[in-house]
Amino acid sequence: MAIKDIKEPSVSQWRKDFPILQSSVHGKPLVYFDNGASTQKPACTIKKLKEFDSQSYANIHRGVHELSASATEEYEEVRKQVQHLIHASSEKEIVFTRGTTESINLVAYSWGETNIKQGDEIIITLMEHHSNIVPWQMLCERKGAVLKALSVNEIGELDLDEFKSSITPRTKLLALTHISNTLGTINPVQKFIEIAKSNHITVLLDGAQAISHKEIDVQELDCDFYAFSAHKLFGPTGVGILYGKKSILDLMPPWHGGGDMIKNVSIEKTTYAETPSKFEAGTPNISGVIALGASIKYLNSFNIQLRMKQESDLLEYGTIRLKEIKGLKIYGESKHKICTFSFLVDGTHPYDIGVLLDKQGIAVRIGNHCTEPLMTHYNVPGTIRASLSFYNTKEEIDQFIKALDFSVNMLR
Ligand code: PMP
Repeated sequence: MAIKDIKEPSVSQWRKDFPILQSSVHGKPLVYFDNGASTQKPACTIKKLKEFDSQSYANIHRGVHELSASATEEYEEVRKQVQHLIHASSEKEIVFTRGTTESINLVAYSWGETNIKQGDEIIITLMEHHSNIVPWQMLCERKGAVLKALSVNEIGELDLDEFKSSITPRTKLLALTHISNTLGTINPVQKFIEIAKSNHITVLLDGAQAISHKEIDVQELDCDFYAFSAHKLFGPTGVGILYGKKSILDLMPPWHGGGDMIKNVSIEKTTYAETPSKFEAGTPNISGVIALGASIKYLNSFNIQLRMKQESDLLEYGTIRLKEIKGLKIYGESKHKICTFSFLVDGTHPYDIGVLLDKQGIAVRIGNHCTEPLMTHYNVPGTIRASLSFYNTKEEIDQFIKALDFSVNMLR
């Protein structure tokens, strides 16, 4: 069925689902262009959070009483929702964490401790978020291993040939962002994975940005790990997901020790729970996970193709309009990108632009976006980043361009 034949909501209906989009900042209607940092929550997720906390809350996994049993059931149901969302083959491959950062650290410690030896090599790229750099650096320091970073070209793309030529018999891991949070580039991860697999290299994808912009099928991708955060998927903060192939997770030792991750404990010896419980020590963010379930249900209520179509329209329109501003340079001009615009304007400082845009109700992010090596590579201190989502509109882009034009003229 063609997209136009599907009776599904339009952007004006979507906007009504997100209460914050109706609010004002400094007396101006909010234009929320900071989705790369955190997406907003639909009313159903906010309602679920409130309802669960006020009527159904109890700790999970260890109670015999009704509230605990039903909270456990709801919590475990979300694990299945996440499994289906990313097309994992079993819910046991879904580990709940506190966020992408924690998911990556889990792999760097648990998998890294057992699989990385002195002299081994880990490949990352210059466009990684600090969360996909620092845990590997720390691992390399602990083990005496080597961290290599692939370069990024002028328009913000990686080079597959550089990857091929960086591989040696000591290369053990490729840790790669699916989509760059700064440049918006959608990396050809499938091709990277194919090359990695033919060289017996384990692959971790940082899916923090991709999860809200693309349909993810971890089986089709054949990655070993996929990490993302609920707060970038229209859900709450403090919840993350680590997908891992069960065969790999099963061989990994636990990371944090404590309640919930054990089978039996004696003072002499502890035996551990099965995957994924062995990675989930302590009380998790129960309300957060359950509210994430509401966000996923909301996203499943309409076709993802419609969201993607809206986003590609915004990308096309935003690029044309931004280029009308004299002296503006966009960082990240790959043909394969999401509607994230990083830019600088000659003769102005990004901080001043950010503050002036804010006064006009427009929320953008300025700085290095936790990608300092990338900023160093482009020899800039930081950029202004407008990161859009499916609930943004062309009218908002018009408001943004008008406010940007005004700010630039004022500063020049
Ligand atoms: N990776 C990427 C690509 C990101 O955009 C972010 C968040 N900006 C992270 C990792 C870290 O996510 P979190 O702070 O939720 O752990």
